[in-house]
Amino acid sequence: MKRVLLLLPTTGYRNQDFLAAAKTLGVEIVAAANYCHQLAPSWGFAPIMALHFDRPEQAADTVLREIDGTLDAVLAVDDSGIELAALLAERLGLPGNRAAAVRRVRDKLAFRRLLRERELLCPAFHHLPSGDDPRRLVPDLQFPVVVKARRLSGSRGVIRADDAEALARAVNWVRAIQSRADRDAEQLGLIIEDFIPGREFALEGSLDRGQLTTLALFDKPDPLDGPCFEETLYVTPSRLPEAVRARIHEEVARACRAAGLATGPVHAEVRVNERGIWLLEVAARSIGGLCGRVLTHSLGMSLEEMILRQAIAAPLAAAGVGGAAGVMMIPIPRRGIFHGLEGLADAQSVGGVTGVSITAEPGQIVAPPPDGASYLGFIFVRAATPAEAENALRLDHRRLRFDIRPEYPAVVEALMPTPGRP
Ligand code: ADP
Repeated sequence: MKRVLLLLPTTGYRNQDFLAAAKTLGVEIVAAANYCHQLAPSWGFAPIMALHFDRPEQAADTVLREIDGTLDAVLAVDDSGIELAALLAERLGLPGNRAAAVRRVRDKLAFRRLLRERELLCPAFHHLPSGDDPRRLVPDLQFPVVVKARRLSGSRGVIRADDAEALARAVNWVRAIQSRADRDAEQLGLIIEDFIPGREFALEGSLDRGQLTTLALFDKPDPLDGPCFEETLYVTPSRLPEAVRARIHEEVARACRAAGLATGPVHAEVRVNERGIWLLEVAARSIGGLCGRVLTHSLGMSLEEMILRQAIAAPLAAAGVGGAAGVMMIPIPRRGIFHGLEGLADAQSVGGVTGVSITAEPGQIVAPPPDGASYLGFIFVRAATPAEAENALRLDHRRLRFDIRPEYPAVVEALMPTPGRP
């Protein structure tokens, strides 16, 4: 029986999908997670269940000390664990990408430097170290620009700024987001780059010995012009002409080669305009959230099963079916406390809808980007054409009514004794 170490994030959307795939394939999973290192021991959890995924060297030492028996592969469920998974594979002599390559593409500044160095199309960019005044950069900027945190995902900490005043506000905001989300925020600083106009597409791919296979190219039919960039609709196959699709594939493949990524899943975001194909991001992971489920019919298996099969060198041959498919990452209309929703049964009855998964929990505080990086849930459709898939997603979404109520600040002072008074 094959044995795979799986890095399970405590807040991951896809833990169950990976575990189900392992069960289908008869693979033994050795679980590792990132539970709080102070609570985990009191719950009786082993040290391997309380790894700091964002401290890969230290976490790898813990895993290598604790684990016994041999492993056939190390996989991370999502972005948070990919660097650690690569480092462990490297140290254990298992197939995988080099940790340095994964680290470089995860860092938006390092990735931009790589694109520039290799002469791939790249927006002009600047590093803004922590504490530096953004006004210093203004003479060198061509507005609009995009201010970004270095290592966050899901459009968290990404804001467009159209002038110097908006830039100062965006920098303050993104600094606050990054300092809450990344303990290396102080050393990282921010990146400020030209805003690239154009339509956006996402490529889901798989690398095998350096060769890229495009599993799906998604249109993102909703405009993503900012100031915040909340993802909503993904529809596949793309309605772009074949020649442009081929160019996107080629650019992503070039970027993977330049970055030294050679194996496993790839997710890329690109913008297309008259000047060419711009790589906004190339990540050594598969698509986030539950979106991968939109590919089950075309792959003939779940995306997680495919990733697992590739990792253990099991045969991949499986015939999928054609047609169009789409997913909506249900946007969060405003910050607040999610209380529930109405219209779910009605939404599930829309023609073409294959599933509506509400992932927000009642009582949970939800926030759209740039502060938040989660969704209310996901709507999945299948249809004969991409246009029909898009329409079904929009129609379905209109049937859902979300109850999100404001958070009221607690009036604590009124209950506290005033000093000097009984
Ligand atoms: P994340 O990893 O959080 O998704 P990205 O760098 O991919 O961060 O940015 C998130 C979104 O912000 C992109 O999908 C895109 O819509 C928008 N965006 C980012 N950079 C630019 C840019 N230079 N020009 C235009 N839009 C951008």
